[in-house]
Amino acid sequence: MIRPLLILVAAFLFHAVCIAQPEFKVLAFYSTKVEQDHQDFSKDVRAFYTKLADDRNFTFDVTKDWTNLNDTLLKNYQVVMWINDFPHTEQQRRSFEKYMDNGGGWIGFHVSGYNDKTTGWPWFVDFMGGAVFYTNNWPPQPARLIVDDTTHAITKGIPPALASPTNEWYQWKPSPRANKNVKVLLTLDPMNYPLGIKDIITGGDTPVVWTNTRYRMIYMNMGHGDAVMSDALQNKMIANSLLWIGKGKPVTINAVKK
Ligand code: ZN
Repeated sequence: MIRPLLILVAAFLFHAVCIAQPEFKVLAFYSTKVEQDHQDFSKDVRAFYTKLADDRNFTFDVTKDWTNLNDTLLKNYQVVMWINDFPHTEQQRRSFEKYMDNGGGWIGFHVSGYNDKTTGWPWFVDFMGGAVFYTNNWPPQPARLIVDDTTHAITKGIPPALASPTNEWYQWKPSPRANKNVKVLLTLDPMNYPLGIKDIITGGDTPVVWTNTRYRMIYMNMGHGDAVMSDALQNKMIANSLLWIGKGKPVTINAVKK
């Protein structure tokens, strides 16, 4: 009589352990020593993902201490997120390179992808698909975006074009689209041009969301100000992006490179 009971208890415990296990773990880095608009976005997106983590069974840890970007700690996480800043020391850069080259996941917003001729980090430019910051609109404005691929996991359920809330938009030169390894997922609709008053994006190709397919990564240009997280459709895409990276299989081709 005891055996069936034991089996029942064991099955119950096994089930309890399974549902308690998060599907993946995210470590999100942000900074409070950045411009106010970037802090505002940080606050909103952290609240958004904290709620999503509860609903979708993943772990969302946040830190503003960038020394946590080290080999030892990153081993515990399947996704690293940069919300409104990027590494500032060589050690942090090397740890991130190693993490990504070995199949880690990354999602970066807005200024976290910023680089110019003073950055001095060629690995990161390559990681971004060759994209180097070229210009931006000012003041921040809403814009119409075109979805390049409506069948992709991150744009599922999103119409072919959407109205994106107020943001500061970056244009890149060269455009990441020129890189054969890059898949562009959303682009600024040319009908927005000229975009800006003080600083104007006058024309050209402006991808705003893309992935370098050699890595498990996605970059999203949204991330300036307190309006970014105000649109349900765009939020769906922002949720999809993290779930896609978090549940994605590690890319291993980079591990054997070098
Ligand atoms: Zn900005």
